[in-house]
Amino acid sequence: MDLGDRVCIERNGASYEGVLMPSRRKDHVVIKLDNGYNIGLYLPKSKLTLVEKGRELKPLDRDKQLRRKAGLPQVSILSTGGTIASKVDYRTGAVTSQFSAGEIIAAIPELEEIANYNARVIYQILSENMRADYWMALARAVAEEIRSGAEGIIITHGTDTLMYTGAALSFMLKTPVPVVIVGSQRSSDRPSSDAAMNAICAATVAISDIAEVCVVMHGTTSDDYCLIHRGTRVRKMHTSRRDAFQSINQPPLGRVDYLSREIQTFLPYHHRSESELVLMDRLEPQCALVKYTPGASPEILNYYIDKGYKGLVLEGTGLGHVASDWIDGIRRATEENIPVVVTSQCLRGRIGDLVYDTGRYMLDAGAIEGEDMLPEVALVKLMWVLANRPNEVRSLMRRPLAGELSFSTPMCV
Ligand code: ASP
Repeated sequence: MDLGDRVCIERNGASYEGVLMPSRRKDHVVIKLDNGYNIGLYLPKSKLTLVEKGRELKPLDRDKQLRRKAGLPQVSILSTGGTIASKVDYRTGAVTSQFSAGEIIAAIPELEEIANYNARVIYQILSENMRADYWMALARAVAEEIRSGAEGIIITHGTDTLMYTGAALSFMLKTPVPVVIVGSQRSSDRPSSDAAMNAICAATVAISDIAEVCVVMHGTTSDDYCLIHRGTRVRKMHTSRRDAFQSINQPPLGRVDYLSREIQTFLPYHHRSESELVLMDRLEPQCALVKYTPGASPEILNYYIDKGYKGLVLEGTGLGHVASDWIDGIRRATEENIPVVVTSQCLRGRIGDLVYDTGRYMLDAGAIEGEDMLPEVALVKLMWVLANRPNEVRSLMRRPLAGELSFSTPMCV
């Protein structure tokens, strides 16, 4: 029997039918049941019979002509890969990125009730492979679609680094239309997949009045609503839950009800057509985010300085601290024109380096307080500021450019 064959396993008087999957243990057999779940059974105690030889998995309608319905807005779907574009590969048992944007539309027919689509594949990667130059190319692709008349953009993306892309696009683009990034935590072959609901909610936001770079993902573990997060304020806070994405230090922009498709907003936002399209697509990739841990060697900073890095973001403790023996490194970087921005591992709350003496010494050495910015957002912002407005780093890193920072942080978020 080969992987992908349909088999029946009998054990202890019960029988289970499903597709043969790879097993990591020689004495176990793993099958994918029709309900989408995998089970593993101890082989010597089970009887295995072939039901049907496996067929080549048919790709969805890859060349499907996207239907056009009169009166519906025009939305472009740019796919970059990730779980939302994935299915299980029966040869390896692992999830791989395989669907194009057109195939995603074919798999979720409700999307065609919401808009007409142009579909483009930008990348077919898992988002851990994203890089600054990919963000730049993606920003250019978004701008091209808007110039060609797209009234909304959906970017399908892996969830692991979706928030970096959200931040990068927020700094590189001023957009007259919604730019919605969406992913899924569970691939579409699993019964608990969030792919369809997230995509439908994303399309609903893409035709809305919210002309911002935002992230739309499940709001709860149920299939009731999705939250709309600002691209510079969102974070993946759980490895596997469907409601993993949360807005940090700011409430979400709003929510979309899955059934009624009604949008409720919680914050002021940029309205459709309020601003012209502006693309500033340069980033300085040689920046690093350094997490400080107790006892970490100050040599870490020297490493980045000696390697020619152009900017550093520190993820400090509490209000924004590193050990006293790191302060010389901060001074050296600052003297060599390498800005050092301080953020916090607490994620929630704001940097306050005037409270303890360590913080004051860090400021004297040249550290720049990252206010209430998320560490990864501060990193992407530093890349953008260094590439576009290098003489204003010190002031811009402490001022909001794309909703990433505010001067007072609400207590409850
Ligand atoms: N590792 C995957 C990625 O980020 C996970 C996902 O897509 O959700 O591409």
